[in-house]
Amino acid sequence: MVDVMANWRAVQDRIARAAQRSGRSPESIEVVAVTKGVPVEGIAPLIKSGIAAIGENRVQEALAKYTAAEWRDEVEWHFIGHLQTNKVKQCLQIASLIHSVDSIRLLREINRRAEVLGLDRVRVLLQVNVSGESTKFGFSPSTVPKALEEAVSCPRVAVQGLMTIAPYEENPERTRPVFRKLRLLGEKLEQQGFPSFEMKYLSMGMSNDFEIAVEEGANLLRIGSAIFGQR
Ligand SMILES: *Cc1c(COP(=O)(O)O)cnc(C)c1O
Repeated sequence: MVDVMANWRAVQDRIARAAQRSGRSPESIEVVAVTKGVPVEGIAPLIKSGIAAIGENRVQEALAKYTAAEWRDEVEWHFIGHLQTNKVKQCLQIASLIHSVDSIRLLREINRRAEVLGLDRVRVLLQVNVSGESTKFGFSPSTVPKALEEAVSCPRVAVQGLMTIAPYEENPERTRPVFRKLRLLGEKLEQQGFPSFEMKYLSMGMSNDFEIAVEEGANLLRIGSAIFGQR
């Protein structure tokens, strides 16, 4: 059996050491526990143990768990997967942060739905396809400024940072350039001062590569299998 709490402590330890190595405070780094494929009972022990949020990548599954979990209001729910425009309405009912806005069309639809639902400020991150893999969603780095200009006309949406998924690497060290590029892009955009943009979150790093992401400045890690075991 997987000892989720032991795994979680080990992950926290590794984050603290990576933070130390890079002169960062571990408290500045938050973990989204990625719970896709994990049943509600399997998640329960983690609630109130220091995770920032739980992350789901499918609206249907997230809603089913949200409805079933007695602890639903004791934790934030983050959406981290590709979001279809026809699922935005449901997603907005539970997600307090959407990490994965990957098109201007989606940005506009979130704004429109937020208006209908009377939500003032839907917090989102823009997903950036740094590595340029054709299998990955996200804005190419060069199109992010255009998306931020578009966000000016989406007053119900608050863009609070950037997210990326690095390619899987046997040797996680090889992901470093991807994470570094995202951090530098964030810094550049921040300097350019888009009114629709606050560079608050750098969501990067998963089970295989989170220590490298920490060293490169991530402050929101999305970690699944290192906590819950292999799916
Ligand atoms: C599944 C998933 C994760 C977590 O992956 P692990 O390798 O299990 O840690 C992180 N981010 C996204 C977008 C995911 O879909």
